[in-house]
Amino acid sequence: MGRFPDPADGQPSMQDATPQHCDILVVGGGPAGSTAAALLAGRGWRVLQLEKDRHPRFHIGESLLPANLPLLQELGVLDAVRGIGLVKRGADFPSGAPGGYSTFRFEDVLGDTPDHAFQVRRDQFDALLFDHARTCGVDARDGLRVEQVAFVGDDVVADCRGDDGARISVRARYLVDASGRDTFLGSRFGSKRRNRRHASAALFAHFDGVARRPGEDAGNISIYRFDFGWAWFIPLPDGLMSIGVVAGPEHFRRRRGDQADFLLDTLRSHPEAGPRLEGAALASPVHATGNYSYACRRMAGPRWLMVGDAWAFVDPIFSSGVFLAMHSARLAVDVVDGSLRAPARERALQRGFQRRVRRGVRAFSWFIYRFNTPAMRHLLAHPTDAFELRRGVISMLAGDVFDSRPVRRRLLAFKAIHGLFSLATLRQRLLQARRHRRQAPAAVERDGIGSGAA
Ligand SMILES: Cc1cc2nc3c(=O)[nH]c(=O)nc-3n(C[C@H](O)[C@H](O)[C@H](O)COP(=O)(O)OP(=O)(O)OC[C@H]3O[C@@H](n4cnc5c(N)ncnc54)[C@H](O)[C@@H]3O)c2cc1C
Repeated sequence: MGRFPDPADGQPSMQDATPQHCDILVVGGGPAGSTAAALLAGRGWRVLQLEKDRHPRFHIGESLLPANLPLLQELGVLDAVRGIGLVKRGADFPSGAPGGYSTFRFEDVLGDTPDHAFQVRRDQFDALLFDHARTCGVDARDGLRVEQVAFVGDDVVADCRGDDGARISVRARYLVDASGRDTFLGSRFGSKRRNRRHASAALFAHFDGVARRPGEDAGNISIYRFDFGWAWFIPLPDGLMSIGVVAGPEHFRRRRGDQADFLLDTLRSHPEAGPRLEGAALASPVHATGNYSYACRRMAGPRWLMVGDAWAFVDPIFSSGVFLAMHSARLAVDVVDGSLRAPARERALQRGFQRRVRRGVRAFSWFIYRFNTPAMRHLLAHPTDAFELRRGVISMLAGDVFDSRPVRRRLLAFKAIHGLFSLATLRQRLLQARRHRRQAPAAVERDGIGSGAA
């Protein structure tokens, strides 16, 4: 289906299916979908949640943020997540400090954001949230893909297919698109826009036997910079380490051998990351994600809205994806609930929802797009305590980007200093820009990664 059908398009084809009726259809069984579904069921709505894969299934995005903990608590799963997670007390970034890195610990946040988060295996985390939605009264089914959708009168009509070939049709009053990078509605609307300035791709896997940080920092995420991108080390329970490299297409085009060798060679070439891999062994298949930064033009419309990656994804460098996904789902609950109770309020509720979601994404994006500038390198390597700027940055790293005025003031001051510093390093940036222009940014096909062809 190339475009989103309007009522005049009539019903999708569902000849042999008896319609299932519900108030809300949630497409997707990831963190955003399960959050929205569980909370909407808690408000008394009949919710049907469909997931095309079967839980537990692999997913990337294993490092959570402290700001997500209150929402896990509200959902009633915080203790269960603690049971499957590894405590994450902070993040370390490269610097000239002894050991080659500076640690930003969440205990230094401004305000009352929790002082830790968790690193989780997403197969376990997502299954836990999906099962929890079920215990909240959601009719949550996996192995069922939503294939088509149409708006017919006041209803949303969806055509779904099971992995056993069975088909069901669904009639709902509201549609929550939580389909993640599949961007179910965005693709059908033709409203998804790739970010050409940020056409990165990622290669990642789990490893055994990778050296961890000492003591309480053993659960921290480590970020490494390369000329062509960056890498993450995320410690997981059971001695695993999730490791990934994010880079532009030009780097992946250099690949000649298989993906595992290429990933390892890239990591070993880094003077600080490489030694941590001595004696390490691959513990999973290598996965790839291409063309990964995008946004859909609209986030909501009559009887539908998008949450989490179904609307937009920027970059995982600050581990913001799961938090933003679950937080947007939390905000969406008020919109859907309010709109079903008083349809005349829908537009106003959706406007407020979009403003708030965009604000959070913008706060992270500003840092993401500048992560490799000389000014940001310097400011993260030598964070100043003046005006509590360092604590402001740590609060951003912890996910406190929505409501706290003290944090927003610190981040504004940080931006001003970044601007001044950028002026001072203008020459260096011009040289960097020229280098990037020479390496023409061609497209990497979706979920395909450099084949080795020159
Ligand atoms: C390389 C990389 C590294 C990342 N690292 C981190 C990190 O460390 N920390 C972090 O917080 N975030 C990270 N992220 C981001 C994170 O993975 C996502 O932001 C997060 O998973 C979004 O949750 P979601 O529920 O919106 O989507 P998803 O988790 O993708 O869930 C969507 C679900 O919908 C299902 N689905 C799709 N289409 C249909 C359909 N038609 N019918 C039924 N079901 C459907 C999918 O199978 C999927 O299970 C990373 C992302 C990438 C690409």
